[in-house]
Amino acid sequence: MNVGDLSGEKGRNNGILAVSDVIDHKLPITPQNYEIWLHYQHNWTPGLREDLDQELQAHGSIDERATESLYEKYFSHSRLNNEVVETGARLAEELAGALATLRAAGQKTELFSENLDDAAKALDTGRLDSGQLMSLITSLSSATKAMAQENEELSKRLETSSSEVEELRFHLQKVRTESLTDSLTNVANRKHFDDTLRFRVNEAEKLEYPLALAMCDIDFFKQFNDTWGHQTGDQVIRFVAGTLQKMCLKDHLVARYGGEEFAIIMPRVTAHQAVAMLERMRRAIEAKQLKRKSTDENLGSVTVSFGVADLQPGNSVSEFLRRADMMLYESKRAGRNCVTAAQAKTHIAA
Ligand code: GH3
Ligand code: MG
Ligand code: MG
Repeated sequence: MNVGDLSGEKGRNNGILAVSDVIDHKLPITPQNYEIWLHYQHNWTPGLREDLDQELQAHGSIDERATESLYEKYFSHSRLNNEVVETGARLAEELAGALATLRAAGQKTELFSENLDDAAKALDTGRLDSGQLMSLITSLSSATKAMAQENEELSKRLETSSSEVEELRFHLQKVRTESLTDSLTNVANRKHFDDTLRFRVNEAEKLEYPLALAMCDIDFFKQFNDTWGHQTGDQVIRFVAGTLQKMCLKDHLVARYGGEEFAIIMPRVTAHQAVAMLERMRRAIEAKQLKRKSTDENLGSVTVSFGVADLQPGNSVSEFLRRADMMLYESKRAGRNCVTAAQAKTHIAA
């Protein structure tokens, strides 16, 4: 993301303009909305302006839900990534501190053993009078006491340090997982999907195994939202995501590709095999009688359309995606609630 200059008079004016845009659109003046409009005005974030314009054209205005999803799409990654980097740096610092403590303790132990050596040599000579012997014993005993105290402090310091390291490691893991997960549905987010698809395409080419890619879109979802409200719509998005996740294989990846659209990366599966699996998912979704959680009201059911393609030799990632997407489009054209596969071009109708 390329963030422009916000210093000086010009920067101040840019900031004021962004805030007045937020006010004009009757949105709350939150840091998130401010960031969105600032990036919108200066086109600092590729794609954001187009998405926002599309929303404005479609609805004549933009609501909080739309700005939240724009923020999630364009800014939450960088926020989480920053957090990963920061936590990583803190972890490294903590470890360096622990290492320095250990080194210092090592030096002290060496000194102590030198003391002991000297004392042993002095005793060996056998030429110490009782006064010298007394003072040797006193100095050895105080060195031993100091060493014991030093060791106790060291072990306390290391204990604190190791619990801090453990906490940081846990946090890092949590942030990493969050940065790859869609917060509404708990399936993989778009970034996780993009990374995994690239990885799987390379792997499938190298190891020569089949790879299928399915796209899924909820049918007439706008109508569902308009009838039952956005929150209930969200519940349905969660239900569809959960069903896909439950019914795919362990090494398959279900991702939320966009608003009410999902993708499934299916390694070691041909398009033909994928069709059978997707068909089972399609039927399970169609068969579910949905109920509004808060009131138990019957909402009827929703259907989904699937498109699936298998990786062809020489396919780039984007071509592969485009082919799967075209098949989804075919399913929509064929009347929805069906699965269309790239190769066989078979419609399995409801
Ligand atoms: P079809 O796919 O069958 O062609 O029709 P559709 O009505 O589903 O088509 P379209 O893709 O145009 O509409 C998708 C709708 O999904 C628009 C938007 O209101 C809704 N939507 C997108 N993201 C979310 C979300 O996160 N939550 C909810 N509740 N609705 C969303
Ligand atoms: Mg859609
Ligand atoms: Mg749809």
